[in-house]
Amino acid sequence: MMNDWAPTQVRIGATAWDLEFVDHIAGGGTAETAYWEGKIYIAEETPPGRWLPIVLHEILEVLNLQYGDALNLEHYQINVLAENLAQIIRDNIELILRLVRENGAKGKEEVRESPVDQGA
Ligand SMILES: [Zn+2]
Repeated sequence: MMNDWAPTQVRIGATAWDLEFVDHIAGGGTAETAYWEGKIYIAEETPPGRWLPIVLHEILEVLNLQYGDALNLEHYQINVLAENLAQIIRDNIELILRLVRENGAKGKEEVRESPVDQGA
């Protein structure tokens, strides 16, 4: 049984990673980041309620790889961050969406006000 998620992308830093649901992850894990394929696989057999923390976990794994010297996260720290960020996002989704929308509007304003757009 596959869900109705088409493969999608998640942008992390300069890279767009393919995010794909698969039936099963070899070794029985819930997710896997295939660095050399640029793909994040999520095991569909995990309950949907776990998907947000699992995806955040893999995003943190990618950040840890991309910025390893700066972050140096241990795996237990990635677990704690992913679980808590998932809870914060879920329990504050209205606020977060509003802040993202405000940020988008502000970004467009700044583009409009740039000297380039004014022909300077
Ligand atoms: Zn991990």
